[in-house]
Amino acid sequence: MFPSFSGLLPELSPLRRPLRAVLAIACCLSAGFADAAVESLPVRRVARDIYVIPAPIADADSSNRGRVVNTGFVVGRKGVIVIDSGANHSHGKAILAAVARVTRKPVKLLINTHAHPQNVLGNSAFAERGIPILASAATVTAMAERCPGCLASLGQSVGDEAMRGTRIQLPDSTVAESQSLKIAGRQLHLVHLGHAHTEGDLAVFDGATGTLFSGDLVYRGQVPHLSEASSAGWIAALDRGIELPIRILIPGRGPVGGPGDLAPTRRYLSELKSRVAAAYQQGRSVDEAIELAGLAEFSGWQGYAARHGRNVQHVYFEIERDDLRGRQEGSQ
Ligand SMILES: [Zn+2]
Repeated sequence: MFPSFSGLLPELSPLRRPLRAVLAIACCLSAGFADAAVESLPVRRVARDIYVIPAPIADADSSNRGRVVNTGFVVGRKGVIVIDSGANHSHGKAILAAVARVTRKPVKLLINTHAHPQNVLGNSAFAERGIPILASAATVTAMAERCPGCLASLGQSVGDEAMRGTRIQLPDSTVAESQSLKIAGRQLHLVHLGHAHTEGDLAVFDGATGTLFSGDLVYRGQVPHLSEASSAGWIAALDRGIELPIRILIPGRGPVGGPGDLAPTRRYLSELKSRVAAAYQQGRSVDEAIELAGLAEFSGWQGYAARHGRNVQHVYFEIERDDLRGRQEGSQ
């Protein structure tokens, strides 16, 4: 029995029947996969049955072909569960080849943690092998809305050659909230903590090893992207995530760590929010807030110069929106 932790996983129900049916078909289609033509990605074993394909701490560009988020996988008794599919079709194929170097067991499920292009645009490589794809319902909605634009903009960053053969493949199964999932002989826990980094972040927790695949809820050594974020929701999600009995943390960005490594992302977000709120309350403009809300502690993180100002702007507009909404409600 999985230990309870403060109601973080209120629903421990099995997945709906349609997914189970799809899984049964996929296990046969994906067995024995190996493709010598695709490039070899590094694989690191971080615990028994737990692996990460680490990515460099960088923004997507032509030199890294957009491969800038970590991919994880869990080898269960009967098959493999992969977490995130990479930035493009060839990346997805390379991830599958990397799994096949570790085990001959079939890939039984791909889980998309959230609707950002580097995490989901490799889906087509999994779909063409009949591997089912699971995400939160909010992620599927966001992918349908944003992925056409994301595909185009990532292509501009990394070049058309890297994106060759890439198409948008939406997940075929969804979860609306946290729940447990028994798959490939492994008990996993899908953790959805509301709108945080994006609308539909889904972390994956493996209770047997205490491993949290956080997706981009956690960055290490890189300034987070807030373009789709709720800063308050993200802070709250990390506060709840800390309640998990984590032993190993596989973040979306940066090196593998432990339970204490959720804290720097939370500290960045809370410092950002308090500095911007102070500027807003002083009547400063957004441009002035960008000048005032520098965070020296995080200036060494990758992407600070390019992204911190945009994050200030994002939070400023969140605070302004909430302020205006409160005034409107107060006047009614
Ligand atoms: Zn992301």
